[in-house]
This record gives sequence, C-alpha cells and structure tokens, in this order.
Amino acid sequence: MLEIRNLHARIAGTETEIIRGLNLTVKAGEVAAIMGPNGSGKSTLSYILSGREDYEVTDGDILFNGESILELEPSERAAKGIFLAFQYPVEIPGVATMQFLKVAMNEQRKARGEAELTTPDFMKRVKAAAAELQINPDMLRRPLNVGFSGGEKKRAEILQMALLEPKLCVLDETDSGLDIDALKIVSDGVNALRSPDRAVIVITHYQRLLDHIVPDTVHVLYKGQIIKTGPKELAHELEANGYADIIGEAA
Ligand code: ADP
Ligand code: MG
Ligand code: MG
Repeated sequence: MLEIRNLHARIAGTETEIIRGLNLTVKAGEVAAIMGPNGSGKSTLSYILSGREDYEVTDGDILFNGESILELEPSERAAKGIFLAFQYPVEIPGVATMQFLKVAMNEQRKARGEAELTTPDFMKRVKAAAAELQINPDMLRRPLNVGFSGGEKKRAEILQMALLEPKLCVLDETDSGLDIDALKIVSDGVNALRSPDRAVIVITHYQRLLDHIVPDTVHVLYKGQIIKTGPKELAHELEANGYADIIGEAA
C-alpha cells in the first residue's frame, strides 16, 4: 500500500536534510510501528506524507498503491484515503468540531463521487463514533481543539479518523498527553479500525502504546533513516535496552 523509496527531504529554505535515504514498505492490513529517539525525523516524515508545503523532497519517491503522491496536494492525498493524526493537532477557532467533521466527511465523499450525507445520517454516525470513544457530546459543540486537553485533542483526532474511514492511517505520538484510561480508549478506537484493506502506521517514542496497539512490524528511525526492522518483540527489546545497541550495530 505504501512504499517509500530512498526518500530525502528537508525543510524548505534550509540546507540540512532531515530525512536521509529512508526506505519503508507497509502492506494492506499491516500495523507498522515507527520508533526512534527524539529528533530522529518521525514527525517530519508524517508531515511529508501529509504533503505539507513547507517540506521539500529532494530525492526518492512515495508510492501509494503504486502511484507517486509527491505531486499531490494535501486534500488530494486525503481524498485517496491517507489520514494523518498529528503530534500537535491544530486549533481551529470559530469552527465547531461538529461542523468541521461534517465538512471533512462531505468533502471526502465528494472526492469519491458519493452523495452528501443528510444531517440525520451525519448525526447518527457522529454520535455512534463519539460514544465509542467516550467523547462527551458537549465537546463536539466547541471549536475544534480550542482549549481541548491533550487527551481530548487525541480523541478528537481518532474520531475524525473513524468517521473518514481512511485506507492508510498515520498516528504521530498519539500517546503523548494521554493518561492510562484515555490511552486504552484511543487504542481501542484504533484497533477497531484494523482491517485487511487498511494499513496503520503508529509513530511512538515509547513501547507503552504498543502494548495496546500490537504492531505486526517495528521499524527504528534514526537520523532520517530506517536502521532496523523487526517483529513486535523489537519494541520490547528497545524498551529494555534503549536505542544505543541498535544505533551501534547500524553504524
Ligand atoms: P521527532 O519527531 O523524531 O522527534 P522531528 O521530525 O520533529 O523529530 O525533527 C527531526 C529533526 O528536524 C530535528 O533535528 C529537529 O530539530 C529538526 N527540525 C524539525 N522541525 C524543524 C524546523 N521547523 N526547523 C528546523 N529544524 C527542524
Ligand atoms: Mg519529538
Ligand atoms: Mg515528533
């Protein structure tokens, strides 16, 4: 589903490469974890996948279902079914969460050639998904992410993801700012989305999240490259021994 080939990238207007020859393959149905020390390029990779304009790809390619997405706008990538949940969700003052969700869902339906949702149908879907994530309906009337706690922001991201039914979900440090109960709820929400035709990339600094969302594959990102790939046990090895051994091996 996703194939990243020899990707090199930097922040537009700067010289230093942050992603430095990154290769990664994720298959449909797979849950892949990307772990790595702070500053290794995890968030940068998620921004590049989303198509954020302040990042510049200088070499390599990103293929989604066999087609390069490098030239696509963020909205076109979303319409193809790529969903990113960011480490720091953006606040949107003046737009009620409910309204935001309705526009997002209908934009995506339009891009897929599907009819707009009726208000009752939309309400039914939102209420069901919110209940599953234990989101207080009052939160949906507030502007998106404005004054939300860390946990509320992460739940709002998973709510968007559940409603948009993406093909590829990328979650960047969804565990940060979550207490153990919220972590469980968010993880259950992600696990509910696991399916043979959907892939999930879980980016995390800590093994803790991976006790709840058990990955098929673990990749270690360091200095802009995947330096090791292994089974789920690799996450436990990292938790026990840190990154030093793997970094040493790779060097
Ligand atoms: P991670 O998510 O793995 O902690 P990041 O992708 O946030 O890592 O950062 C990777 C590297 O890029 C770090 O060295 C960081 O300092 C640098 N970096 C990130 N954002 C910027 C920016 N806006 N300007 C300059 N350097 C940046
Ligand atoms: Mg970081
Ligand atoms: Mg990060």
